[in-house]
Amino acid sequence: MHSELPAVTGAVRMSEHRVVISERGSFCFATCTCGWFSPARRSRDLARREAEDHLADNGAAPA
Ligand SMILES: [Zn+2]
Repeated sequence: MHSELPAVTGAVRMSEHRVVISERGSFCFATCTCGWFSPARRSRDLARREAEDHLADNGAAPA
């Protein structure tokens, strides 16, 4: 007896997260290729940290 199980496609396709820090005037903000973006920050470091948090939340290892 042979029963064929349907192929399980449980793997979530990890959409690409590529964060770019942009500057506008004296503000910095991070934007991601997935559509996410951080609020404008005065600190580039803060925008960068939020970007890292976003990557961590989505299981993407920061480069
Ligand atoms: Zn993203």
